[in-house]
Amino acid sequence: MKLTVVGCSGSGPGPDSPASCYLVEHDGFRLVLDLGNGALGPLRRYADPRTVDALVLSHLHSDHCLDTCALLVLHRFHPGPRPVPIRLLGPPGTTERILAAGDPGGRDLSDVFTVAELSAGTRRLGPFELTWARTNHPIETYAVRLTAAGRSLTYSADTGDCPALVELARGSDLLLCEASFQEPGPRQPANPPDLHLSGRGAAEHAAAAGVGGLLLTHIPLWQDSARTLAEAAEILDRCELVRSGSTYEL
Ligand SMILES: [Zn+2]
Ligand SMILES: [Zn+2]
Repeated sequence: MKLTVVGCSGSGPGPDSPASCYLVEHDGFRLVLDLGNGALGPLRRYADPRTVDALVLSHLHSDHCLDTCALLVLHRFHPGPRPVPIRLLGPPGTTERILAAGDPGGRDLSDVFTVAELSAGTRRLGPFELTWARTNHPIETYAVRLTAAGRSLTYSADTGDCPALVELARGSDLLLCEASFQEPGPRQPANPPDLHLSGRGAAEHAAAAGVGGLLLTHIPLWQDSARTLAEAAEILDRCELVRSGSTYEL
């Protein structure tokens, strides 16, 4: 399986990366995980977004779903031959969210997307087995583990401290984990609970799950990513920061 980081900027697009978007490929099947703001353009470097095999949205915050609206326009109005509708898996409310943001007054996405609602559990998509688990985030959010040919990648989506993420990721070859926060200094207030992880928190989840390696992502542009990496490296030595354009072979 091959992972391409299309977008990894946390909470919104940054100067060097769009918001969250990852392309996962195996045996010719192309699956897009999240399509945050700014991601559709760079995704075109790696795949024709109109013909990807599936789009999986972890949750409906704008930095994870908003360029689904741009894909809606691209698919619907491209002058070329109309490809088949794209399989879109997202939390309950996905259709309404995309319509509200991308086609106000519209009633139907079925010319562009075949929408299925996510829930915790396992299903097959092409060569992948996908298992979802609810994370600890203010809206309904799903982490996902993808397995193909005996290799596994787990993506945290957005989450605060989350025992379910540890269970989902157990023994994965790679954990792609958000690290939005930084640990507060001695006179700083604690980070808000049930929202995001720090670099140290991501590494603690990765260590508890016994993963082969940790990829740190979703770092907002106002954070010092070197500090985030240093926090994680105190807990785990098999960790690195991802960048837009990074690729990983599992
Ligand atoms: Zn986010
Ligand atoms: Zn979020």
